[in-house]
Amino acid sequence: MAKYCSKCCLSFDTERCPVCKRKSVRDTEPDDLCFLTEKEQIWSGMLADVLKQKNIPFTQKSTMGAGMALRAGPLFETVRFYVFYAHLEKAKEIVDELFSSSTEENDSEETEECADLNQE
Ligand SMILES: [Zn+2]
Repeated sequence: MAKYCSKCCLSFDTERCPVCKRKSVRDTEPDDLCFLTEKEQIWSGMLADVLKQKNIPFTQKSTMGAGMALRAGPLFETVRFYVFYAHLEKAKEIVDELFSSSTEENDSEETEECADLNQE
């Protein structure tokens, strides 16, 4: 059973939250919002479009305050995507498909990917 940290909006399989190290986590419920991915502004629009097409509800949170965005320019703003746990797996597949060639995740990500392309 996946655990959930309500502080980080993160679902994971370990005993404590990998981000804040908190141990007071609970089982993930289908309607928990889970962190999906973080993308630059230019990509976030594209991802949002695809999620809408697939009928996956999501929440976006900008990582910069409006003031910062003004100074650095909207292109440098990044957007965090959150989806309900019930949709998390599907949403991750979409992200993988969209960004698999363009994103190089740094360091210790498992490289083993089970190639399940069960598209519906
Ligand atoms: Zn946490």
